[in-house]
Amino acid sequence: MDATPPSGGLTSGSDGTPPSGGVPGVDAALARAWVAAVAASVTAHAAELTDLDAAIGDGDHGVNLRRGFDAVVAALAAFDADTAGAVLTKTGTTLVSKVGGASGPLYGSLFRALGKTLSDDSSVTAFGAGLRAGLDAIVRLGKAEPGDKTMVDALTPAIAAFEAATPSGLAAAATAAATAAADGAAATTPLQARKGRASYLGERSAGHQDPGATSTALIFAALADVT
Ligand code: ADP
Ligand code: MG
Repeated sequence: MDATPPSGGLTSGSDGTPPSGGVPGVDAALARAWVAAVAASVTAHAAELTDLDAAIGDGDHGVNLRRGFDAVVAALAAFDADTAGAVLTKTGTTLVSKVGGASGPLYGSLFRALGKTLSDDSSVTAFGAGLRAGLDAIVRLGKAEPGDKTMVDALTPAIAAFEAATPSGLAAAATAAATAAADGAAATTPLQARKGRASYLGERSAGHQDPGATSTALIFAALADVT
């Protein structure tokens, strides 16, 4: 997907080294560009997400995320924030309040934790730490483990890949995370769901890719697109 490059973004040396502690890294323009790219991707893939959720859930995942990210875009347009931390915290609180399904509080927690971490330090390392804090919040809330056929199956490898590639800079870390998230989402297909609505289907949940893991892959693909 084409996305307008952010006006700011990563402040790093011309040799691609990430900024050291205290140097601004992820700025508000980049956070806004990412969220806008997620909103566009969710809109483009809403039918696919809803079809996946119709197969093993209640068929509302695309609608839920579309409603949520449309509300985020509107909230951010009226929000005069100049840090990535504030933009991403606002994104999270809006998702929690606007999305009725399980995915709203879960993704809301991810963005809130990321925003909170970046409000102290906006380096690429802090971005990875914020993602890690977000995953921890999702696991605290939803109690899913890797292999339960949820968004955690895409988030876990994505964040590990981001952390491993952090020394190469934000763009490389985001690309590595996007690849790992897509692989993690694809790997949910044969699994039997043990958390969320899909778990009600028991063995019949196997053979379908998890909708939440699929939307997680879209979120990281959008990050790779704007970095
Ligand atoms: P709902 O299941 O309430 O209809 P959505 O359809 O928006 O909500 O989201 C479903 C997705 O949420 C699932 O595909 C799964 O990835 C994720 N999910 C559901 N329950 C959990 C949980 N306990 N932990 C982590 N992710 C979960
Ligand atoms: Mg659903």
